[in-house]
Parts: sequence; structure tokens; C-alpha cells
Amino acid sequence: MTPVDEQETREPVLQLEEVTKVYGGESPVVALERASFTINRGDLVAIVGPSGSGKSTLLQVMGTLDRPTSGRVRVVGDDVATMSDRALAGLRATRIGFVFQQFFLSAHMTALENVADGLLYAGVRHAARMVAARTALTRVGLAHRVDHRPPQLSGGERQRVAIARALVGNPAIVLADEPTGNLDSVSGAAIYKLLTDLNADGSTIVVITHDRELAARLPRRIEVLDGHIVADVHSSEQPLIVERQLS
Ligand code: ADP
Ligand code: MG
Repeated sequence: MTPVDEQETREPVLQLEEVTKVYGGESPVVALERASFTINRGDLVAIVGPSGSGKSTLLQVMGTLDRPTSGRVRVVGDDVATMSDRALAGLRATRIGFVFQQFFLSAHMTALENVADGLLYAGVRHAARMVAARTALTRVGLAHRVDHRPPQLSGGERQRVAIARALVGNPAIVLADEPTGNLDSVSGAAIYKLLTDLNADGSTIVVITHDRELAARLPRRIEVLDGHIVADVHSSEQPLIVERQLS
């Protein structure tokens, strides 16, 4: 493939341009400062940095759960600043899948119902939701657990259900914040293997982690420190160190 062809096939899914986030209050906290990067269709990216470096803040603005103080966020080309809260809710429901450390599953619903819930706000009818949920659970290796409720599942299985729920609407991008934070190392490694398999199947995935060893398993790493993007590294390349811009 020539570089020109490569350029043409790299379709931006999520773009951050000079994004700054300041939390207000008595003593304002600059959680992110002029963060810029692009996630392309088909990417599998780790956002890695120590606790307090701004990773969850980054997920909030990438996922349109929070608006940046300044700078621009584009999801599949659309500038989210121009969208109403209602339009953003629609965008989140159809284009973005979320996975969190705490799973956020309903204990009284089956795995199938939990996953089908991922389509509730996308206007998909009940029967179609159930079919899609079964397919998504099969993709994460849980076809034999569809009727189990979260308390009957292991931690690793619960996170698989949460990943199936994130995937069920076929979103443009999946954002996972510390998805292995509540898991033992073996289950955590299996989740990374699953994310790699899902990416090989075409899903665009961003994983946030403080764990450098886990991040090293992924083909691209964006490193965050004190609210700054300090590196954007592809496995196949020499590290590209992003210069810290002084304002
Ligand atoms: P990480 O996920 O890397 O641990 P966070 O994005 O949660 O980092 O936090 C980055 C910084 O912003 C920290 O200093 C944190 O204390 C601060 N912070 C996060 N959320 C808020 C908030 N809602 N209000 C004030 N400060 C916050
Ligand atoms: Mg965090």
C-alpha cells in the first residue's frame, strides 16, 4: 500500500484539537491542557498515564459526556460544540459504546437483557434488540451465559457482558475506562485479548489504563501526564514525542 492510499483509508472517527478542561471551584484544576490527537477507524489505542493525569477527563470529553473548556471535539466529523444536549445524547446512543471499571450492569436482569438495554435509546424494537444482544454476547464468548444474571457471573464475564452492551449498537468507537481495574491479572489479560480480537474484526477501540504493561499490548499508545499528551507511539514506529507546547 502506498502512503497516499493509506491516507485515503484512514477515516477519522474522533478528533481532539487543543482541548483544555478546567474544573472550576475555589482552586480551579487544569485537568487537560491543549490535548490534540485523532483516532481513526480501525484503531486500537491505549491512553496511558498515572492516576490523576487526566485520563478519565479525556474519556468524558471524548465521549461527549462533558464539554471541554476550550478546544474542539469532533465525532465522525461533527463538531460536538454545535450540538444540543439532546443531539449529543443521540450521538452517544448510536455512535459511542462505553465500558467502565465498575461494569454498571443491572443485577436483576439477565446478561441478554443487560446487553439489549444498550439499544434502548437507539429506537430498536424489542425482538430486534434481543437478536442483536445474543449476537453481541456470542462475539464476546458468552453465548452459553445469556440467561445468567451478573451475580452468577465472574468479574471477567461481567466485563464481557458490559463490552457486549457497548458493541451491540455497532458504534463508531468504543471507549473503555480502566476496564480491567476490578479484575485479577488473568481475567484482565483475557479482556485485552478480547479487545484485540474485536479490533481485528473491525471495531475501533480506545482503552484507558494506568497499567503500562497492559498498554504495551496494544498497537498504539497515547501517553498522558499532568493533563498533557506527552507521547503518541505506534508499535511499528519509533516513539513520536509530542512537544509540550508552552502557552
Ligand atoms: P485520571 O483518570 O488519570 O486518574 P482524572 O481525569 O480523573 O485523572 O483527574 C485529573 C485531575 O482533575 C485530577 O487532579 C483530579 O483531581 C481532577 N478532577 C477530576 N474530576 C474533577 C472534578 N469533577 N472536579 C474537580 N477536579 C476534578
Ligand atoms: Mg480515571
